[in-house]
Amino acid sequence: QAVIHWFKRDLRIRDNTGLSKASELAKKKGVGVIGVWIMSPQDWEAHLVSPAKCDFELRSVKLLQEELAELNIPLYTETITPRKDVPKRLLNLAKKWGVKNIFCNLEYEPDELRREERLVRLGTEDGINFEPCHDDCVVPPGSLKTGAGRQFAVYSPWYRAWVAHLHAHPHLLNERPMPEQNPSGFRDNFKTLFDREIPPAPETKALGPEQKERFYHLWPAGEAAAIDRISLFLTEKIGRYTATRNFPAKQSTASVSVHHAAGTLAARTSVRLARDVNSTKKLDGGIEGIKGWIGEIAWRDFYRHVLVNWPYVCMNKPFKFEYTNIEWEYNDEHFRAWTEGRTGYPIVDAAMRSLNSTAYMHNRLRMITASFLAKHLLLDWRLGEQYFITHLIDGDFASNNGGWGFSSSTGVDPQPYFRVFNPWLQSEKFDAEGEFIRKWVPELSEIKGEGIHNPYDKGGEAEKIAKREGYPRVIVEHKFARDRCLKRYKAGIGRE
Ligand code: FAD
Repeated sequence: QAVIHWFKRDLRIRDNTGLSKASELAKKKGVGVIGVWIMSPQDWEAHLVSPAKCDFELRSVKLLQEELAELNIPLYTETITPRKDVPKRLLNLAKKWGVKNIFCNLEYEPDELRREERLVRLGTEDGINFEPCHDDCVVPPGSLKTGAGRQFAVYSPWYRAWVAHLHAHPHLLNERPMPEQNPSGFRDNFKTLFDREIPPAPETKALGPEQKERFYHLWPAGEAAAIDRISLFLTEKIGRYTATRNFPAKQSTASVSVHHAAGTLAARTSVRLARDVNSTKKLDGGIEGIKGWIGEIAWRDFYRHVLVNWPYVCMNKPFKFEYTNIEWEYNDEHFRAWTEGRTGYPIVDAAMRSLNSTAYMHNRLRMITASFLAKHLLLDWRLGEQYFITHLIDGDFASNNGGWGFSSSTGVDPQPYFRVFNPWLQSEKFDAEGEFIRKWVPELSEIKGEGIHNPYDKGGEAEKIAKREGYPRVIVEHKFARDRCLKRYKAGIGRE
């Protein structure tokens, strides 16, 4: 007899709603908790999960297993293919172990909701209670409505409602109780569950040894690493966040998106910890940097609420239907140049090379490169969305889709389509000294001064170096690209 908690995108022990509830019920029944983690290679394929992210999850699962073992809780792992078999297999395991209750935290994408719905149905037939919990968002989807009772499609009023809701329901930010230690005899009854090996990544998702080693150091996995990262950020950086967050060379952001995506850190934990270091203990007042940072985590919730309210965004459709008819260019060479960082726009190239090397990209650079793909190259934004998700270690459908929708002007609360980022101005503003460019585009590292932003523009030393080092000329002229974009968008949506 036991209670199951099924770990998915919540690879942590602390502040975990489903796990906490499983433990509470187990205590009431006088039984123990069994953790289950299922590797579903088909899900990883279908969701285009990057090898870096798979590796991060597998490392986190290993650490989770060790931490759970200290509480005498086993983490049973198994690889299941095809993915449609997951619900039945989970229920069969429950029957085998005499389990009547399975908990998990909800994932909100349609495939996952359908799977959970099937589990509720099949579980009911088998007398097994399957209880998915809200945990991934700080404010559960469905809680916020406009004055007219509609869903919000604009961030600012939604954010005000989000803050008001949390101030009115402070328990939403409370830390969920830690799971209890399993009873001492538990290990004797379920011995074989304690020594399950974590399966290796499937071949299509495996990293090479060099990458594995590099990501291991660059992106320490597990919840202890998450707490280390956020603690450092809260003590040293958050106060200046608003002033510094847009400058990629400053490394002034928290770098916790990878932990939010794998669930080694709950978004709720982040908001609560940030609130607690704020002088006012409020979410939207006091220290500017804290307010700003909490506002960014709110964006994460916002895009999840959008996904729940308008699930067609998961089906390759733009949020704004009228943007379906834009006539995109289909230029493979341009797309390749963008992915490889060979566009001739140093800031774009530096950003793409940083993504290819670290599996991460700074937010400002995500906006610049996404806008460049959709507006300068006039390539279908979905190509870029897909490239990002297959390469990011923090790849997350809702945030990625939201970010691409914003940058390509096809999404919810988007950048107006007639606002086209000028990559050179963005570069001068957010990498004024060219520090970030020099790091990632070594061909240009010897250029001194502002020639770094657009080396072929002013001639002289900058041009000489760029030519000598074989740095490409721009693959599309800025002014031409801007005019073409405005015309094509206008024609596509049929209005100014
Ligand atoms: P911080 O600046 O320290 O922010 C704290 C946390 O807030 C982040 O960890 C993240 O969870 C959340 N956050 C911050 N900005 C955003 C945002 N704009 N939208 C949603 N959540 C945000 N974020 C992902 O987690 N996964 C993605 O796949 C992803 N794809 C993106 C694609 C595009 C085109 C754009 C423009 C943005 C994307 N973002 C994505 C959002 C953002 O770029 C990253 O969350 C951020 O760069 C992570 O770095 P950080 O942890 O240092 O962030």
